[in-house]
Amino acid sequence: MSDTVSGPLTSESIAGAAYVVAALLFILSLAGLSRHEKARAGVIYGITGMVIALAATVWLTVQGAWGTGHALTGLALLLAAVLVGGAIGLWRARVVEMTGMPELIALLHSFVGLAAVLVGWNGHLEAPALSAELMAVHHAEVFIGVFIGAVTFTGSIVAFLKLSARMKSSPLMLPGKNAINLGALAAFVALTVWYVNDSQLWLLVVVTLLALGLGWHLVASIGGGDMPVVVSMLNSYSGWAAAAAGFLLNNDLLIITGALVGSSGAYLSYIMCKAMNRSFISVIAGGFGIAAPTAGDVDHGEHREITAQATAEMLSNASSVVITPGYGMAVAQAQYPVAELAHQLRERGVNVRFGIHPVAGRLPGHMNVLLAEAKVPYDIVLEMDEINDDLGGTSVVLVIGANDTVNPAAAEDPSSPIAGMPVLRVWEADNVIVFKRSMAAGYAGVQNPLFYRDNSQMLFGDAKQRVEDILRAF
Ligand code: NDP
Repeated sequence: MSDTVSGPLTSESIAGAAYVVAALLFILSLAGLSRHEKARAGVIYGITGMVIALAATVWLTVQGAWGTGHALTGLALLLAAVLVGGAIGLWRARVVEMTGMPELIALLHSFVGLAAVLVGWNGHLEAPALSAELMAVHHAEVFIGVFIGAVTFTGSIVAFLKLSARMKSSPLMLPGKNAINLGALAAFVALTVWYVNDSQLWLLVVVTLLALGLGWHLVASIGGGDMPVVVSMLNSYSGWAAAAAGFLLNNDLLIITGALVGSSGAYLSYIMCKAMNRSFISVIAGGFGIAAPTAGDVDHGEHREITAQATAEMLSNASSVVITPGYGMAVAQAQYPVAELAHQLRERGVNVRFGIHPVAGRLPGHMNVLLAEAKVPYDIVLEMDEINDDLGGTSVVLVIGANDTVNPAAAEDPSSPIAGMPVLRVWEADNVIVFKRSMAAGYAGVQNPLFYRDNSQMLFGDAKQRVEDILRAF
């Protein structure tokens, strides 16, 4: 015992200390990212933690291989992997549009899943020499890691395909889909017990195929409106997959980081479910956004149109304005003119605030990021619950590229596929101006009766151009 305390520093103990520092920095990073004001510091903590973790890993690899004649090969392979991966990551991060972030994140999650599968397979093929009890634990780690990794891999690929519109967002409705999912889980438990007792390669092949199929089926059977929960759920799975890989590689940092990502993703899924008034189980079972009624099914009457000039006049006479942005603002990159509009109206003494729905856009916090980018002051950006009760007394609400998140059917029509999802009650305002390009439905494919209300008017066209027209008309 005393040897361990006073003994010479080994490369493992130095790397271990570096991993603890990196883990602390990751925790600080998460804490920073939860507040606008500290987000930049949070990112810096995260980057610093990652640099320390990478340096420690390189050090450990080189030290471990030193004297074996493979040190240089190990270092060269490691550097090549970091350079190639880093270059691709840097290139993608630079070119990705804000609207493409969700699918990029889904794709990144799939890599974590794939890595966990490969680590698990390696754990089987290169099994360490252990006592019988420890070997059973090792086999359980291999099997569970491969299962979580493979579910994450195909689930994330389907999410990527759905979010990038390469696959239809409507749910796949196989007969007995819940039985399929439950059956796959039961088979996984049985196979795990079998593999722990008798670690045959074919069992690993079977569980890999089973998990690949389950991941695909789980996400394919979830409808468009539930995608926010799916994205955060896959985020959580990727964390657990990384933690599983950490156990196999005996890497404490990977275990801690994986657990952080896994638990924060699970908590985010909980918040998303709450925001959409859905139970987690019902999301997994799928069904939200199925066979939404089309425009032809219900006659909502006539909609009215307004010009940018008339909107500018209405805004000039308003005492209070609430702006509710949605995915269309991201597509149009309208956040800069929208920020300028808010600024000019405030200079004229109008009380301007933003109302942000928790699942607006295609990413948790999507709208907050865009508005922060355009330097909208944080104190006028309010959450849905903070603004909803004030909408009744508001002169004008500007709905900029939002649709599902302001749909009254969610609150008023129990037969609607989005019934029960809390929405911004914009229709309670004196006037509502909806900025969009057509009468098309939103992401969940549900028609929006808001467009036909007496106090609603449509301002058709690209949101950025229309807001710029209003600024010119001022
Ligand atoms: P929606 O996706 O419901 O609607 C966006 C609207 O923007 C469309 O109706 C579209 O109408 C309009 N639009 C598109 N491009 C432009 C443009 N250039 N100028 C003006 N308007 C434009 O948006 P919401 O933000 O209200 O709702 C988000 C939806 O996405 C919810 O269903 C949510 O569940 C889902 N989702 C959210 C995720 C998240 O984490 N936040 C993740 C995945 C899905 P038109 O084509 O007529 O212009």
